[in-house]
Amino acid sequence: MAYSYEAPVSQSLFDRASVVTPGGVNSPVRAFRAVGGTPRFMVSGTGPYLTDADGREYVDLVCSWGPMILGHSHPEVIAAVQEAVSRGTSFGTPGEGEVALAEEIVARIEPVEQVRLVSSGTEATMSAIRLARGFTGRAKVVKFAGCYHGHVDALLAAAGSGLATFGLPDTPGVTGATAGDTVVLPYNDLDAVRAAFAAHPGEIACVITEASPGNMGVVPPADGFNAGLKELCAANGALYISDEVMTGFRTSKAGWYGVDGVRPDLMTFGKVMGGGFPAAAFGGRGDVMAHLAPAGPVYQAGTLSGNPVATAAGLAQLRLLDDAAYAKIDAVSAELRSLVGDALTKEGVAHTVSAASNMFSVFFTDEPVRDYEDAKKQDVFRFTAFFHAMLERGVYLPPSAFESWFVSTAHDERAVERIAAALPAAARAAAEATA
Ligand code: PLP
Repeated sequence: MAYSYEAPVSQSLFDRASVVTPGGVNSPVRAFRAVGGTPRFMVSGTGPYLTDADGREYVDLVCSWGPMILGHSHPEVIAAVQEAVSRGTSFGTPGEGEVALAEEIVARIEPVEQVRLVSSGTEATMSAIRLARGFTGRAKVVKFAGCYHGHVDALLAAAGSGLATFGLPDTPGVTGATAGDTVVLPYNDLDAVRAAFAAHPGEIACVITEASPGNMGVVPPADGFNAGLKELCAANGALYISDEVMTGFRTSKAGWYGVDGVRPDLMTFGKVMGGGFPAAAFGGRGDVMAHLAPAGPVYQAGTLSGNPVATAAGLAQLRLLDDAAYAKIDAVSAELRSLVGDALTKEGVAHTVSAASNMFSVFFTDEPVRDYEDAKKQDVFRFTAFFHAMLERGVYLPPSAFESWFVSTAHDERAVERIAAALPAAARAAAEATA
């Protein structure tokens, strides 16, 4: 596809980056491979806007993949970071900031009796699985196709079709033995989970699921799905792990738990709780967390865990996220969903706007999307055309049809108007696109 606009400074930075970094990026989706074109190198962010190296401004609907829920450079978060930095950047000892952040998490999310801070969502899910295996003395892990839990070896396994497929490594470098302990099931299919427990009695340590998936596009759990998982885990002596790295502190004050009230044994967090810095966590039942070193035998550690600057940023952000903030984010999300839906309908583009609280994405199909197989049936080429038309008009969407869109408290009327102005041409581009 040829693009009618250029980004020469970003292109030259990408050329430089490609010499010294594999694929030119430090996380694959940033490379724009799914949509083509030049990845934008950003130089600054303020409120709902990002500015790239060519001096172009965009309304940001990625929000750093979720963390920037108050928008970019929120003055109170920046002030907390500056105050923390002025006292030093890392001590390798306990500090009050990490206690305060843990207290805030425990206060917000009732099933979390104890929490351990780490530096990334990947570390959180990896550690939660190790803990579940250590606690239960079992090896197998159930996950769902289309759910992403970071690049944990055991979780980079995808299913073939059918029920209770043994995981096959999704990537070179993950051994068959590692993936072989992972059972990958279709999402939203409780019968498949029942069958997996029947096929592996006494062997399944845990079921891990995104609390409400956002990594195959937004595909919320069907009514009763999470509750069913919890019930099946309890009946079979396995732990129910709810991955709230994306939904945590975003979909409500208490994340997705605040929406569906299903009580996990363990939960994982990241993104919003770090305020734009590397902070993440896992936590849950006190008797399970007591198995973690140094209280118990399951080892887990981190040089920068509970980093004072990251915890200051996270705490400042969480303290600003009150009911009014969530009401604002929910309202902006609803407005954008209806604007996008109307624009696509007007151009006759088959689509489904799928939402889970304020997270949403657009599938370019009018068939229902309940799992990853459904999600993959959409007309991805229409998303590609839509994406580039929006980018050209100053709206930065996730560069993939299989990602959630994110908004913030900073997305005000002016930002929404800019998105609204870009939509008609983007919807037309989607309508005219060919496979
Ligand atoms: N779990 C979920 C649900 C995620 O969305 C992600 C990242 O997008 C992760 C885990 C991994 O987090 P991180 O990228 O911080 O390692």
